[in-house]
Amino acid sequence: MNSIPIEVYLSESFGLDDKHASIKPIGSGHINTTMLLSTPKRSLVVQKLNTVVFPKPQLLVDNARLIEQHLSKKQQVGEFNLAIVRHVATTQHDYLVNNNDDTWRALEFIGGSYSEDVVNTVSQAQTAANAFGQFAAALEDFDANKLHAVIPNFHNLAMRAEVFKQVINTDPHKRVAHCQEEVDFCLSQFSLIDELNALAGKVPIRVCHNDTKINNMLFCLDSNDAKAVIDLDTCMPGYWLNDFGDMVRTFCSAEQEDSTALEKVGVREDIFAAIVKGYVEPLKSVLTAAEKQSFWLGAKVMPFMIGLRFLTDYIDGDNYFSIKHERHNLDRAKNQFALYRDIVSKQQVLKAMLTQI
Ligand code: ADP
Ligand code: MG
Ligand code: MG
Repeated sequence: MNSIPIEVYLSESFGLDDKHASIKPIGSGHINTTMLLSTPKRSLVVQKLNTVVFPKPQLLVDNARLIEQHLSKKQQVGEFNLAIVRHVATTQHDYLVNNNDDTWRALEFIGGSYSEDVVNTVSQAQTAANAFGQFAAALEDFDANKLHAVIPNFHNLAMRAEVFKQVINTDPHKRVAHCQEEVDFCLSQFSLIDELNALAGKVPIRVCHNDTKINNMLFCLDSNDAKAVIDLDTCMPGYWLNDFGDMVRTFCSAEQEDSTALEKVGVREDIFAAIVKGYVEPLKSVLTAAEKQSFWLGAKVMPFMIGLRFLTDYIDGDNYFSIKHERHNLDRAKNQFALYRDIVSKQQVLKAMLTQI
C-alpha cells in the first residue's frame, strides 16, 4: 500500500509539477471515477477505470488510441472538426498506471466546454446527435474489426434474452412473482431478435460509439456548439442503429430512466425529429438504404434491451446496476418498457420522420 497522495502520484506519473497539484471531481459519469488534476501550468482529466465493467483496461486504451489517431489524420486534412480527447502518456511511455490496485489513465482536458446530463431543448438534441454523426462519419473508413470487443456481446439482444431466460428459470431471489407481468411482456417481444437477425449481411458493420448519451459529448461554453465526442470506452464494431437507438432512448423521454411517473414517460416527437436531422446530416452520403431502414428497429430495440437488462438484474438480485432501493431495477425496467411501448404506439409518425432521410 503506498500512501503518497493520489494527486502527487498521478502528477509524477504523467510528468506534471507534483508540488503544486490539486485534484477534484469533474462531470457525472457513472462508470469510471473522473477527476480534474490541475497544476498552475496544465490540467489533465484523470480517470480511475472501473475494472469490474472493464476487466482488461488495456483493450479499451488500445481501441481509443487507434480511434484518436484516425481522427487526428482526418482533422489535419480538415475532414473532422471536433476536438479529440487524446490519451496522455506517462513518463514511462505507457498509458495506464497502477496505484494500490487501482488503474488510472489521463486524457487531455478539453477546456471551454461543458456537458449536460439531460436533454432540455430541441437544439441540444440536434447538436449532440450531429456530433455523434460527425464522429461516425469520420470513422466510416476505419476498419471496425481492428477494435477489441471490450465488452463482448454488449448489444447482443439474443444473448441478453438467453441470460434472461436462465435467470427466470432459476429465480434465485424468488422475485419473478413480483414482476410476472413484465416477464411475460418481455417473452412476448422476442420477435425483435428475428428482426435483428434478418439484418445480418445486409446492414454494414460500423464503428459504433455504443454510449451515445448527452453527457458523452461536450458543448462549447461560448457558442453552445458541439465541441467533442468523449467517452470512447465502448467503441466497438456494430450497427449504427444501436447508436441511433440509444440517442432515442436517452434523449427523447422527459423523465429520468428510473422515474416511476410512467404516465409521463414517452417520446418527445420534436426531440426524435432533431435526432434524425442532426445524426443523418453528416452521414447522408454514407448511409445505405438498408441502414436507413434499420434505424426504426434501433429506436425500438435499445429501450427494450436496456429494460430487459434491468429486469434481468432485478430478478438476479441486483448484481450489475447499482441500486438505491430494493425495487430500483424493476422501476427502471418498467420505465424503459413504458418508453418502448410509447415508441411502438407512435410508429406511424416516427417512421414517417425516418423515411424523409
Ligand atoms: P464515464 O465513462 O464514467 O461515463 P466519461 O469519460 O464520460 O466517464 O467522463 C465523465 C464526465 O467527465 C463527462 O461527462 C464530462 O463532463 C467530463 N469529462 C470527461 N473527459 C473530459 C475531457 N477530456 N475534458 C473535459 N471534460 C471531460
Ligand atoms: Mg460517460
Ligand atoms: Mg464510459
